[in-house]
Amino acid sequence: MSLQQLQQKLPDVRAWIDRTLAAHAAQARPVVDLGFPRLGSYYSPTLLVSTKVIAVAKVPAPPLASMGLTGFDEFENLDAAGITYLSSFFVRHGYERDESLHFHELVHVVQWQHLGPERFIMAYALGHLLSGGYRTNPLEEMAYRLQARFDQHAPPFDVAAIVHPELDRLVPALLGSTLKS
Ligand SMILES: [Zn+2]
Repeated sequence: MSLQQLQQKLPDVRAWIDRTLAAHAAQARPVVDLGFPRLGSYYSPTLLVSTKVIAVAKVPAPPLASMGLTGFDEFENLDAAGITYLSSFFVRHGYERDESLHFHELVHVVQWQHLGPERFIMAYALGHLLSGGYRTNPLEEMAYRLQARFDQHAPPFDVAAIVHPELDRLVPALLGSTLKS
């Protein structure tokens, strides 16, 4: 898998995301409507109004292998509690009241917005391949680290103000790296 091969598949991944979100648009609700008490201390009101949540029995993952993208088996078969695409995220049934999970997915919304869709997808994919898996992906590591602070009831902090400069340091290096085929 080369950087170029990944780049060539971006339109397919984008099309899958757009189709998937369109198919669930009727069930999507703004995060702010869920009434979580703490999220507003970490995220802007605009973000909580504009981000949509969709509760599903199984969160949808893109069929990357069948698109010809190899090396993502673990990601495709994760059966995660949540997954974020653009400014929407899916949560698995049973997690609708899990504020910590919603906090985590909102970190990804901030990442998507700061990088833009193409750079997010490339950075996430390269982070997965280069780090050797889902949990060590730098974009996941960032989300889990901030989620841990949220879980420990650290004093409120502005997530975007932390995530933006971290991405500005991290992502150019990631995208500049070369992949072994
Ligand atoms: Zn995550």
